[in-house]
Amino acid sequence: MKLFSNARTIIDLYKDYRTMNKDDLEDFYASKCDYYQNYVGISLFVGVIISITYIFSDYLLNGDFVRTLLPRFSILIPALLFFVATRIVKTRVAIVFMDYFLAHSMVIATIWAIYHLDIKTHASEGFVIMNLIFLTVGFSARNREVIFSTILFWLEIIISNSFNHYENLDVIMVLEIPCGIAVIGSHALLMLIYLDHYRMQQKLELAMITDPLTQVYNRHLLEKIITQNALKDVAGPVAIAMMDIDYFKQVNDEYGHYTGDLTLLYIGQKLSKGTHVNDYVIRYGGEEFVIILKNCDVNNACARMEQFRQEIESATDTPVPITVSVGVSRYNGDFSKSIQNVDNALYKAKNTGRNKVVVV
Ligand code: GH3
Ligand code: MG
Ligand code: MG
Repeated sequence: MKLFSNARTIIDLYKDYRTMNKDDLEDFYASKCDYYQNYVGISLFVGVIISITYIFSDYLLNGDFVRTLLPRFSILIPALLFFVATRIVKTRVAIVFMDYFLAHSMVIATIWAIYHLDIKTHASEGFVIMNLIFLTVGFSARNREVIFSTILFWLEIIISNSFNHYENLDVIMVLEIPCGIAVIGSHALLMLIYLDHYRMQQKLELAMITDPLTQVYNRHLLEKIITQNALKDVAGPVAIAMMDIDYFKQVNDEYGHYTGDLTLLYIGQKLSKGTHVNDYVIRYGGEEFVIILKNCDVNNACARMEQFRQEIESATDTPVPITVSVGVSRYNGDFSKSIQNVDNALYKAKNTGRNKVVVV
């Protein structure tokens, strides 16, 4: 039964994977690369050290160290390039390119060393061991990159046969093809397992920034916007509004806390529906909401908030009759100062009779 439920999970993950669009896929693979690249870097480092230590097995076959010394140590040059490049490049594609560059350099160094071996039959073991490197390197890669690298590895063996003349190419390929397919299969499975982790992480991140009562954003998102300076890249003007329910304490006192909660839910949902997808509706405090309106100048923001205020005042579907006061200001590049302006505007609205929109 457990086997069936595991298979179901894998099938569901595969369906999820198939329905991801280009941007989602890029984001997913970038996250996978971020997560695994340190591990890949360490395993490549270990791979470089191990491939040099093959001078000892070369000694057992040749009776001297000299002939394979250069090919075995030549891996240090691509290793150095890898070390420098991975400190400079930032994109996933460039990182994966460098991972495979170093792994395939190990294959080429091995082929070069085999050229200098008296007995070449053990090349089959050498190539099988290389699959261990490919098994870890692919952790940062996309499926198609793993397939491409596997085919390239097979071609490297076949082409090198023209000068290495392996006595047992048939055995080498009979071992290599299932190993390569196993590497591809393992990575396809690992990708789906990581997708499970990725989806869970997305759910947790969303839960972190969502207010459980009103289902709009909470202050964690506001902190994120401030620390990441997220509004700086918005092309058009940005306006900020702060909305506070009038005499909300009385709602709780007269109708009970539950009705108060329903009222908050009503306002949150109405704000969400009345704003654009790129805008942010944030529950700022108990019965205060901050609305960040992108590509919206202050006049437009006032008009939109005024319409909202009137709709609330005349609504017949609110849990209890309520009104709201709103402060509006333009975002001036400094979030703390802009919020202070909006707060002052709201304070004015409250002190001059409530149920109104004031701009500062
Ligand atoms: P004002 O018009 O000046 O804004 O008056 P007010 O009564 O709305 O303001 P005040 O700050 O005195 O009261 C806010 C109330 O909001 C007090 C608190 O009990 C209530 N509140 C805060 N969070 C929640 C919540 O999650 N659920 C409910 N039901 N009430 C809440
Ligand atoms: Mg209030
Ligand atoms: Mg308040």
